[in-house]
Amino acid sequence: MNACNNMKLVQWGIMVELTIIGGGLAGSEAAWQAAQRGVQVRLYEMRPHVETGAHTGADLAELVCSNSLGSDLPDRAPGLLKNELRRMGSLLLECADQTAVPAGGALAVDRQAFSRLVTSRIREHPNIEVIRQEVASIPDGPAVIASGPLTSPDLSEAIARLAGREHLYFFDAISPIVTLESINMDIAYRASRYDRGDQVGGDYINCPMTEAEYDAFVDALLSAERIELKSFEQQLESGVRAGMHTFFEGCLPVEVIARRGRKTLAFGPLRPVGLADPRTGRRPYAVVQLRQDDLAGMIYNLVGFQTNLKFPEQRRVFRMIPGLERAEFVRYGQMHRNTFIFSPALLCPTLQFRRRGDLFFSGQITGIEGYAGNIGTGLLAGWNAARYLLGQSPLQFPEETMLGALCHYITHASAADFQPMKANFGLLPPLGEEGRGQRKSRRVRQQMYAERALSVLDAYLIAQ
Ligand SMILES: Cc1cc2nc3c(=O)[nH]c(=O)nc-3n(C[C@H](O)[C@H](O)[C@H](O)COP(=O)(O)OP(=O)(O)OC[C@H]3O[C@@H](n4cnc5c(N)ncnc54)[C@H](O)[C@@H]3O)c2cc1C
Repeated sequence: MNACNNMKLVQWGIMVELTIIGGGLAGSEAAWQAAQRGVQVRLYEMRPHVETGAHTGADLAELVCSNSLGSDLPDRAPGLLKNELRRMGSLLLECADQTAVPAGGALAVDRQAFSRLVTSRIREHPNIEVIRQEVASIPDGPAVIASGPLTSPDLSEAIARLAGREHLYFFDAISPIVTLESINMDIAYRASRYDRGDQVGGDYINCPMTEAEYDAFVDALLSAERIELKSFEQQLESGVRAGMHTFFEGCLPVEVIARRGRKTLAFGPLRPVGLADPRTGRRPYAVVQLRQDDLAGMIYNLVGFQTNLKFPEQRRVFRMIPGLERAEFVRYGQMHRNTFIFSPALLCPTLQFRRRGDLFFSGQITGIEGYAGNIGTGLLAGWNAARYLLGQSPLQFPEETMLGALCHYITHASAADFQPMKANFGLLPPLGEEGRGQRKSRRVRQQMYAERALSVLDAYLIAQ
């Protein structure tokens, strides 16, 4: 059956079928996009029968680590990407907006409410059948592979056979969560960086450190016991480049950041700028921030504290943070395997596998970082799979758009430089003359990038 015939079948009310592997962020979005275009989708999700080691529930689109989808400010790269996705009718962005919790300029969600909502929207769609089963081989017919960083071993093996030696592993980490009532608010204080936030007093809880407290904390962090790594994990961590294996830079364990230099944390996740302590009016030496993790506001995660310390060590060391001396941990930090393919050699910017036009990849497995980017590639893969089935040419978003730039990057980066990538303005083609004139501030240039992206996207969508 060719694609033109498929189009006729849909016009006659007869469904054409698409298999999607993985009901995570990318797979759920892909299923929705294809189903909305009249394609019958069989969405395979192996949970709860087969676990990944990081997901804890059975719902689709579970957020395994942070509950934040990143900045939602229109002139920031992640904010621009979200606005593009909203314009293109992303289901997951709609669900995120509906389950948002206060997080300053970021879009953070109640993770359970978010996944529950996505699951019910997908289940209710008449064109989607959710099948709770592990897929261990690459389907013969039209398919989207969205099995994520924790792709099951058998499917990983099948992808390795398909993709060759460029099937890669590297590591990622999740941060701990503590209860609000266990935080000592006589020491900690509410504030959003530079007073940007929705809640009176600020969206984040901040634990201030003096220089002496910071030094003692870094010493404890550096000497704390860590979960033993397997030999190839040790290779990764010690920075030995084995082919293209490397740490996930955006999610480095806090103890690994600390090892890069005594002050690295104070200039990184613990930076105090814009977070003066309202009681003293002074800026602390360092600040640990905690972000609300549920809609009820009962639990908070330690921002940027992904870790591989042993659980009792996490309790001991993180309780040295002023304000957390009696912290009750509802989840400890952990490290996990991450799987991705070498997209520059394997995929087109349409997310089609180069050697098979009816096979699409999306999500983290393509080398995209960040929840919103993974939703975005799911959107494009689902949309393009539907277009393929309907005999239409696949979409390739313009590079001026953030989603187009991300897809361009993962499919064009050189072998030596290829690193998983998240949304950033550096991926976009430079602004023309108008961007160079009269020493424009960074903020103004970012605004110009964002405006250009949205107007190019609008024109592109109208032309389709
Ligand atoms: C521990 C950890 C922490 C992370 N923290 C963050 C973070 O804080 N922020 C961030 O932006 N990103 C984070 N990431 C990356 C994050 O996983 C992605 O941003 C996002 O979840 C990827 O979406 P995805 O759809 O590609 O994969 P997922 O959301 O993981 O979805 C893949 C789905 O496929 C299913 N599956 C796997 N194999 C099969 C199979 N053979 N058959 C059927 N189903 C299968 C899985 O069960 C899963 O539900 C983290 C990743 C890990 C592993």
